[in-house]
Amino acid sequence: MSEELFDLIIVGAGPAGLTACLYASRSLLKTLLLEKGPIGGQDLIENYPGFPGGISGYELIERIQKQLEDYEYQFLQEEVIDLQEVEEVKEVHLSSGKVLKAKAVILALGAKLRKLGVPGEREFTGRGVSYCAICDGPFFKGEEVAVIGGGNTALQEAIYLTKYVKKVYLIHRRETFRATSILQERVKKNPQIEIIVPSVIEEIKGSDKVEKIVYRNLKSNEKRELEVAGVFIFIGHEPETGWLKGKLEMDESGFIIVDREMRTSRPGIFACGDCVSKKFRQIINACGEGAVAALNAEEYIKNLEK
Ligand SMILES: Cc1cc2nc3c(=O)[nH]c(=O)nc-3n(C[C@H](O)[C@H](O)[C@H](O)COP(=O)(O)OP(=O)(O)OC[C@H]3O[C@@H](n4cnc5c(N)ncnc54)[C@H](O)[C@@H]3O)c2cc1C
Repeated sequence: MSEELFDLIIVGAGPAGLTACLYASRSLLKTLLLEKGPIGGQDLIENYPGFPGGISGYELIERIQKQLEDYEYQFLQEEVIDLQEVEEVKEVHLSSGKVLKAKAVILALGAKLRKLGVPGEREFTGRGVSYCAICDGPFFKGEEVAVIGGGNTALQEAIYLTKYVKKVYLIHRRETFRATSILQERVKKNPQIEIIVPSVIEEIKGSDKVEKIVYRNLKSNEKRELEVAGVFIFIGHEPETGWLKGKLEMDESGFIIVDREMRTSRPGIFACGDCVSKKFRQIINACGEGAVAALNAEEYIKNLEK
């Protein structure tokens, strides 16, 4: 495979990369899709159009993969560690040592969940500290838990957790939430959710597993302990773009800067989905951007041939 020249290499097989692959393979581009981890999705997705009652993230991804079976493309389970440009050819370096070549590249790398960075977080991850309510919520039946964060995900997950737990303490560092009004209303009306603001977690404590948290009210500076069995952390994302530093223009947090056509600062290199610098990170815009990236990559490749 290493001697082949692909039209397009897509890095990342989340909603953005899979959609880009769908568009590229339908356009008969010689396409290679690379993914370092298992392909999957999270949670019940209630806001993706066409699925009344919602669809699980896993099923949505499975359906896109099934749709892709009608078209020709290649897939490799490999991690990309470097991207180099040799004149107009893009060289994609894999952790296995292989180097693959393409006329254009789409980066659909996603972003990983941000950590709080407080004592006890790492120690108790998997033993009370969680970043996924749907995965771990059922383990906390009848318990009291804390949810940290103030965006859509934090509020959605706090509501979701009330299906299982006795009580959710929703802790946020600001007095107001960033989440949409409808979610804020649902949280405020839910008798199982107690809002604690403006407060930050200082420590997660326990012996074998989480037993309590220490939090500080940012107005009064008063510290308090709260007995909880779980801490669910939803405080945003950070991109995994360290390996692209200095090669592409990025914002101060490391998200890739693109124009409306999903073009990065380098010709023939496109980016889409959660890894790009933007305000809202949702499946719907990841898919839309994947489509735009693939269409523009196709145009770029055709122009090379002229
Ligand atoms: C708990 C949770 C709940 C959510 N709920 C919703 C919701 O209800 N509705 C909604 O619209 N959105 C929701 N989202 C957001 C949604 O999941 C993301 O916006 C979407 O997955 C972004 O798609 P993506 O393809 O850009 O990135 P991702 O889905 O993150 O996919 C990126 C892929 O790239 C791979 N990758 C990264 N780097 C490399 C590399 N160097 N080499 C090879 N492969 C690589 C990763 O392994 C990953 O599989 C939720 C997110 C979370 C965490």
